[in-house]
Amino acid sequence: MKWQRFLSIPIFAVFLLMGFVYYVTLFVSIEDWVGLRSSDGSFHASVFSFLAFYSLFSFFVCVLTDPGRVPSSYVPDVEDRELSDQEFRRNVKHQRKCEICSTYKPQRCHHCRTCRRCVLRMDHHCQWINNCVGYWNYKAFFILVFFATVASIYSMVVCGTPVLGLSMILGSLLCWHIYLMANNMTTIEYYGGVRARWLARKSGQGYRHPFNLGVYRNVTSVLGPNMLKWFLPAAVGHLKDGSSFRIAHDTRQIT
Ligand SMILES: [Zn+2]
Ligand SMILES: [Zn+2]
Repeated sequence: MKWQRFLSIPIFAVFLLMGFVYYVTLFVSIEDWVGLRSSDGSFHASVFSFLAFYSLFSFFVCVLTDPGRVPSSYVPDVEDRELSDQEFRRNVKHQRKCEICSTYKPQRCHHCRTCRRCVLRMDHHCQWINNCVGYWNYKAFFILVFFATVASIYSMVVCGTPVLGLSMILGSLLCWHIYLMANNMTTIEYYGGVRARWLARKSGQGYRHPFNLGVYRNVTSVLGPNMLKWFLPAAVGHLKDGSSFRIAHDTRQIT
């Protein structure tokens, strides 16, 4: 049951923190500064409430959305890749098989030990949402981090003091995911590619992440082609089935 995901101590801690920051910003800082009933006070309270509740909404979408399950019928489509060598084909199949689930894994799919299953385009398992961040909820996760960062910075400016260092932590996380999104990379792929980048540098060659299609296409592959829907966490109509991804300098899709 999806709603059972809320029965976790980290999620309870997130609710407590959100409630605390909201209370301090509105009923202590804004009240002391200009008064909540003044026009300035009402304006700042409205802006901060919007940011806070949008963060909360994105948080619910992250928790309740299944990050991506491998279809039971999935089999790697090695024939379409024009692989002539039978041995190599067998290796590809072997490497893409999850030993624990005993099923084939599409590209970018990984097994999560916490969720005890394979997750499509897995980024990482996040204990704060008690869920994996994967193909279907990565957009919501990015929007959550974005709005939570803006809200904490707004609170910091209004209060005149840093809110528990929260804006710095969230700001760093946002910068990290902007970098990953701009490069069409997951957290797992970044750390998995460290050795490949080092080897390429050592041999005097450049390394390019295979799914990096250029910043604009990378960003729209996550947020969608319609800019009006970029900040709608549940607007994921542009996503396909999460089992195939376009690779750079190639019109083929690998599965
Ligand atoms: Zn698995
Ligand atoms: Zn997980």
